[in-house]
Amino acid sequence: MKITVVGTGYVGLVTGTCLSETGNEVLCVDIDMDKVKKMQQGEVPIYEPHLDVLFERNINAGRLTFTTSLQEGLDHGEIIFLALPTPEDEDGSADLSYVLGVANQIGKLIKDYKVVVDKSTVPVGTAEKVQAAISKNATCDFDVVSNPEFLREGFAVDDFLKPERIVIGSSSERATELMKKLYKPFVRSGNPIIIMDEKSAELTKYAANSFLAAKITFMNEIANYCEKVGADVDKVRIGMGTDSRIGKRFLFPGIGYGGSCFPKDVKALYNSGKEVSYNFQILDSVIKVNQNQKIALLPKIKEYFNNNLNDKSFAIWGLAFKPETDDIREAPSLYIINELLKEGVNIKAFDPEAMNNVKKKYDGQIDFANSMYETLKEVDALIICTEWSIFRTPNFSKIKDLMKGDVIFDGRNLYDLEDLKKENLSYFSIGREAIT
Ligand code: NAD
Repeated sequence: MKITVVGTGYVGLVTGTCLSETGNEVLCVDIDMDKVKKMQQGEVPIYEPHLDVLFERNINAGRLTFTTSLQEGLDHGEIIFLALPTPEDEDGSADLSYVLGVANQIGKLIKDYKVVVDKSTVPVGTAEKVQAAISKNATCDFDVVSNPEFLREGFAVDDFLKPERIVIGSSSERATELMKKLYKPFVRSGNPIIIMDEKSAELTKYAANSFLAAKITFMNEIANYCEKVGADVDKVRIGMGTDSRIGKRFLFPGIGYGGSCFPKDVKALYNSGKEVSYNFQILDSVIKVNQNQKIALLPKIKEYFNNNLNDKSFAIWGLAFKPETDDIREAPSLYIINELLKEGVNIKAFDPEAMNNVKKKYDGQIDFANSMYETLKEVDALIICTEWSIFRTPNFSKIKDLMKGDVIFDGRNLYDLEDLKKENLSYFSIGREAIT
């Protein structure tokens, strides 16, 4: 099939590449000329495990191409995916200007039948708005389909190739059949393609992300309470998670959720509720609790250093909002860095993939190291913000030798308390006993 993907970010590029992997001819459109140039030269513009291999293979086979021309894109594909940003607007609602901006142009540019697919995460009613925007100018038939994306950064390729489910919101039989044909190779193991109306599909994505954000936030509150009463959240987590109604996943406490999806999606659903006079009380709490959780390590750090952080030197391990990505959008590390800079702390940070993105934000304000150990020379404390695998079993003797201080503040509960007790290090984590 001939497919066009508009927007080549984490979702668009993975979508385009994976669709070309099953033999489709995919043309990706982006307005970012530098990015398109890089991709045309065979360079993957983001870090996403396994993407490079598929990317190269399909470019070499001529099935994956790139352009900055929307006209060229619309001439090429029968199915047009919109994988455009839907960032948080000033009032917390989803900014639809990218999606509707492109939809406005599509009507003028299409010459024959197209299925226009909303792959971006968008509020209920957006498919109708896209339909109306295209209709204003269109002189040929088209259908608008809602097909929310559930991939996770860091596992995006695997998630796209083997999705647990595909949700298609459509009221057109013709469009639905085309979508089913496109996705058939990805559900050979029997995972479902779930067909529903557009509004329910749109809401499915927000409901799923908000539920997961609430699950994490609930566990963070249990962790905070554990600290007050001397319980161990790790034990509580394991005790709870064995109940199959609860499940083991998404119960790990820490310094809050971040990323390009959960924060903005929870706020967007909360705001969509307000528009119809519905007050999502749970989401209101989730947003507030998570905001505080991102800086949950700070009171512990301040107390340890008797409220005097000025001119202290701290190492930070992990900057990305989660492991296996270079994405730093809404990363808890940034909130901690901002607070520490205000207090006059000198920071030396390391992240396996996200340092370039952080450098752009904090030009000259913090230092970066080439390895996790290099951050530690002469620092007063180590702060861990992201649970990259390489941080899980460090050489503690080396840590002690390199550091001036002897304290670790761990926002991701990476280490076993019993192990740490043997190491002669002070250790503060989330929802567990402090070792001093
Ligand atoms: P992104 O910011 O990484 O990428 C968006 C891309 O769109 C950029 O390359 C940008 O240059 C391009 N773009 C902007 N305006 C354009 C235009 N007019 N024409 C062509 N290209 C244009 O975004 P993302 O993370 O891929 O997210 C896209 C959508 O998918 C969002 O709605 C997001 O909520 C949703 N989503 C994201 C994830 C994720 O893990 N990142 C997962 C599921 C759903």
